[in-house]
Parts: sequence; structure tokens; C-alpha cells
Amino acid sequence: MTDVSSRLREVARRLTRRYGKPGLCGHETSPVENLVLTILSQNTNDANRDRAFETLRKRFPTIPRLAAAKPAEVEEAIRTGGLAKTKAAAILSALSRLSEERGGYTLDFLRGMPLADARAYLTSFGGVGVKTANILLLFSLGFPAFPVDTHILRVTKRLALVPPSATLAKAALLLEPHVPAGVHVPLHLNIIRLGRELCRPRNPLCPSCPLLPLCPEGAKRTGSGRPA
Ligand code: SF4
Repeated sequence: MTDVSSRLREVARRLTRRYGKPGLCGHETSPVENLVLTILSQNTNDANRDRAFETLRKRFPTIPRLAAAKPAEVEEAIRTGGLAKTKAAAILSALSRLSEERGGYTLDFLRGMPLADARAYLTSFGGVGVKTANILLLFSLGFPAFPVDTHILRVTKRLALVPPSATLAKAALLLEPHVPAGVHVPLHLNIIRLGRELCRPRNPLCPSCPLLPLCPEGAKRTGSGRPA
């Protein structure tokens, strides 16, 4: 077991002790609906994304009806999520490609692929990056992928689990092989919660953090010396 593996295991253990083992985050939907949701999530917050998705679902209750919609209609339905024109085009283009390549609106064929190949397929769609592909792979298809958002990137940099220069995509690929089996969902959700509540971008609340004994940045900020 590498140092990163053992430290990540300890991070998971401490966060589960603090926050429990959450398992739900709103992405537990069919793979194709999740593809639409991930495209809607670009450059906006969860609340705006969810509002746009809800309006879209009301306007087009099934994927075939959505696929048959005009770009302007989709654009109108998702306006609250921002970048409506780009996202409407990306959604319709993804659905059209699935229909042409697979004869239907399905991503179930990904289940039989190696993780790296399934991710490469998803990121070949416009508007789908490594983070959103990993969300879909983890929450809709059960792959052991580890989505990294800005909270997870900040926390894992401070913990020195990834290099300071790591991007979202790079950090996800670096961390993925080290995530202990079976804790991908709770670890993902718990680090995000830690990032929102304690390991905030400014003024992290290190003295209250369950990861302080493992954290070089926390040691520096609290003057508590090198973490164990
Ligand atoms: Fe973030 Fe401080 Fe916790 Fe380290 S100890 S993870 S810097 S809040």
C-alpha cells in the first residue's frame, strides 16, 4: 500500500466518523439523464443546474421527446442554468450521436467496458469533462471512479495528496487508484462537505478539522508542527 493509499484510507475513516456514510447526491439517475445533467452542470452551481434540469424534464418528460426538440426550445427550458445556447447544442448533439451510434438513447453498453475506456467515450462528447464523466460513471453506472470538484481539489492539495499544480482532471486520475474499495461515494461527498464547512478557500477552520493530524497545511496554519 502506498503512502497516498494509506493516508486516503485514514481520511475516509476520519470523515466517516465525523459525517457518517452519505450515499445520495442527486446524481442517482439513469446514465442518459445523468449525461444531460452533467452537461447542465458546466459553469454553474448545483441549485441552478437542478432548476434547469427540472424545467427541462417538465417541458420534455422523456429522452426521445427531448431529442426531438428544437434547439431554441431546449435553450429556453434551461435558461436558468446559464450558457443555455451552448448547453442546448451539446445536449441535442449528444442524444443525436447516441441514437446514430447505438440505435437508441442508452449508455448501458459502457458497463462492460474498462473504466478508462468508458471515461474516454464519455469525454468525447462536447460539454463532458473528466469530472462530469466520473460523476456519471460513479453514480449511474457504479464504476470505481473518483470525481474531483474544486472542493476536493483544494482539500487534497492542502493534505498534500496531490501536487499543488494538479488540475481537476489530473487530481482525479492520481487519486482514483488509491481510493479504498467501497468508499468512493461517501469519500467524495464527505470531502466536499469538509471543503464547504471547514476547509474553506479562505480561513479554513483547521482547529475543528478531523483531518488536522494528517494535514501539512493545517500544521502550518495552526503551528502544530509536522502532521503524524
Ligand atoms: Fe483543510 Fe485545515 Fe483540515 Fe487541512 S486541517 S484539511 S487545511 S481544514
